[in-house]
Amino acid sequence: MSSKRKIALACSVCGSRNYTITENPNRTERLEVKKFCKYCNKHTLHRETK
Ligand SMILES: [Zn+2]
Repeated sequence: MSSKRKIALACSVCGSRNYTITENPNRTERLEVKKFCKYCNKHTLHRETK
């Protein structure tokens, strides 16, 4: 069985969890992605959550 799991990406400005992604097991760095936040109404940095 695969150990893939879903993780949420939260806006670093308002904290809303706007996106979910499937984790890549080979990834070593912490995810930081610029994505659009509908609550901030602009592109902000999104980070993975626990
Ligand atoms: Zn936001």
